[in-house]
Amino acid sequence: MSLWKNKAYVNGEWVDAASGSQFEVKNPANGKVLGKVPDMNDKDTEKALQDANIAFKEWSKTTGKERGIALRKWYDLLVQNKQALAEILTAEAGKPIPESLGEVDYGNAFLDWFAEEARRSYGEIVPSPVKSKEMLLIRQPIGVASLITPWNFPYAMITRKAGAAIAAGCTCVVKPAEDTPYTALAIAELAHQAGIPKGVYNVVTSDRKNAPAIGKVLSQHPLVAGLSFTGSTEVGKLLYQQCAVGVKRIALELGGNAPFMVFESADIDLAIQGAVASKFRNCGQTCISANRFLIHESKYEEFISKFSEKIKGLKMGDGAQPGVLVGPLINQAQVKKITRIVDDAIKKGAKVLLGGKPAPNYGELYYEPTLITDITPDMDCYLEEIFGPVAVIIKFKTEEEGVEIANMTRRGLAGYFYTEDIRQAWRVAKNLEVGMVGVNESLISAAEAAFGGIKESGIGREGSKHGLDDFSYIKYVCFGSL
Ligand code: ADP
Repeated sequence: MSLWKNKAYVNGEWVDAASGSQFEVKNPANGKVLGKVPDMNDKDTEKALQDANIAFKEWSKTTGKERGIALRKWYDLLVQNKQALAEILTAEAGKPIPESLGEVDYGNAFLDWFAEEARRSYGEIVPSPVKSKEMLLIRQPIGVASLITPWNFPYAMITRKAGAAIAAGCTCVVKPAEDTPYTALAIAELAHQAGIPKGVYNVVTSDRKNAPAIGKVLSQHPLVAGLSFTGSTEVGKLLYQQCAVGVKRIALELGGNAPFMVFESADIDLAIQGAVASKFRNCGQTCISANRFLIHESKYEEFISKFSEKIKGLKMGDGAQPGVLVGPLINQAQVKKITRIVDDAIKKGAKVLLGGKPAPNYGELYYEPTLITDITPDMDCYLEEIFGPVAVIIKFKTEEEGVEIANMTRRGLAGYFYTEDIRQAWRVAKNLEVGMVGVNESLISAAEAAFGGIKESGIGREGSKHGLDDFSYIKYVCFGSL
C-alpha cells in the first residue's frame, strides 16, 4: 500500500477536515505540487484530543512490556519501508536522499530505544523516617500529549517525541509542519499497519494560517496534559505562555546558535571534516548546525583555505539526484532570511570568499554554499541563527576570548570544538553554555543521548533514559498505619 496519504489520521481512521478544506504541499527542489492534505482547524484538533483522551484510558493501563512490543512492531515496519519513507522525506523537505535515509535510521532508533525503555520506567521505594509508614514513588503517564514538529527533521522529530510519549503510556496528537505533512502521515500508515491502537497516535494536518489556532488548542485544551514542541524560539515562547494558563507540562527544543571552535592544537583535517558535516547537512537547516566558526588566529588561514576547497566540491541540486550534497532551502521565507543576513554582513564590510547569493539557475529556493570572513559584532550573522548554507568565520586569540564569544548568545543548544589538549577539552566543555558538546566531533545526536538546550534554546531532554520524563510524572504513595 502506498505511503503517500492525502488525509489526516485521527482515531485510527483517515479523515478530511470537517470543513473539507485542503492545502497544497510542494517539492522545494522544483516547486511541483506533491498533493493536497486536509487543512484542519481548532475544532478538528479538539476532536482528535477527545479521541486521544478516550484511547488514553486503555493505553495507560497497558504494561511497559506491551507498549514495547507495539512500538517494536511499528519500528520493524518503518525499517522495512526505509527507502519509500526517505523518498517522501526528500520530496517534501528537499534534503538529499542519503540524508533522508540517515534521518529515517536516526528516527527509527528512537522507537527502538523507547520500545526498550518502556519496560524500565522504574519507581523508587524511599526509606521512611517513621516506622508506621512505607513510601513509594511511582511513575505514571501524564495523559494526552500534544506534539508540534518542524519541517527540518520531519521524520525524526516525530518518532523522538511520539516514541517517548507512547512508551510512557501517553496518547498523542501530532501537528506536523505545513511544509512536510506527508512524512507524518506515512509514519501514521505504518503505525496503523503495526496495530498501534486507535487514538494512540493521531496526526492533524494544517496550513500555516491555522497553526496558531491549533497551537492554542494543543496548549490550552483541558484534555491536554502536556506539550512537546520543536521549532522556532518565537513560537516556542508563545506556546510556553499559552501552556502557563493551564499549568501544562512543556518540553521545548528551540533554535540554537552553535559555536564551532578550532583551537591551536586542533587536528585541522578532522575539524574540516566536522565543519562540512555540521554546516552543510540539510543545507544548514538544523538547530544544531555550526552557526559561528571561531578559529584560533594560529589556524585561521589554514582552516579557511582547506574549508574553501571542501565547500567548492559540494554538489548542489535536487536532493533526489545522485551525488547531490546540498539541496534547496525549504521555502521563500528561508531564502529571504539568508539573503538579508548575508547582505547585511557584506554591507558592513564582511569579505565573501565563496557564494554570497541565491542560485536561481538551480531553482527558486537555492542559495550558494557561502563562506564569509572579517565578521564584526555589529553584523546580524554574529549572533543570529543563520539556518542556511552560510559559514561565517570569526578569529580569536585566547581560549577565554573564544569561549566568551561562544557564550555571547542567549541560545544554548549545541557547541563543538577541536583540540588535542585534554585539559583544555575538559575546561571548554564545562565552560560552554550549551546543553550538548561535541569534542572533536560534530555529529553528536543519538537515541541513547540526551538532546536539549539551555538558556532560550529549550526545556527538557529528548532521547536517552531522560526522554520519558516529559511524558510521565512521579506519584508519591504513602502506606500508613503499618
Ligand atoms: P519555522 O519558522 O522554522 O517554520 P516554526 O516554529 O514557525 O518554525 O514552526 C514549527 C512548527 O510550529 C510548525 O509545525 C508550525 O506549523 C508550528 N507553528 C507555527 N506557528 C504556530 C503557533 N502560533 N502555534 C503553534 N504552532 C505553530
